[in-house]
Amino acid sequence: MEKEKFKYPNRKFYKILLHAKCPQCGEGNMFKDSNPYHLYNYDKMNKYCSYCKLDFENETGFYFGAMYVSYGLGVALSGINFLVYLILFGFDPIIPYLIANSIILIGIWPIIFRISRVLYLWMMELLFPESSSTPDSQ
Ligand SMILES: [Zn+2]
Repeated sequence: MEKEKFKYPNRKFYKILLHAKCPQCGEGNMFKDSNPYHLYNYDKMNKYCSYCKLDFENETGFYFGAMYVSYGLGVALSGINFLVYLILFGFDPIIPYLIANSIILIGIWPIIFRISRVLYLWMMELLFPESSSTPDSQ
């Protein structure tokens, strides 16, 4: 099946990231539960996109690399938090920053988890489009 990258003109990147939509079409949900704070099934993913049938896990351990995306997002967010703290309170003392940053990172961890998986799948689609599959192509 030939991939048609431009047959989904309505996909918006922010919508794909924030709502954890399929990075190819922007319509299908990647996760079974749309609320990332339902912690008992925050990580349950659909096998295929309900709209374009993109395989969300085309090999075992596919999302191992999403850990690195998650790490990068966490470091970037910590840097932003540090700049905000520096502007508001100065450099000294640093302990309240560490506590506040830890609370923020733990609090938005389910969102970072999902965004990193969407970003990772999107990057793999962009870099290796021939490796993605649909039920029709197998
Ligand atoms: Zn899709």
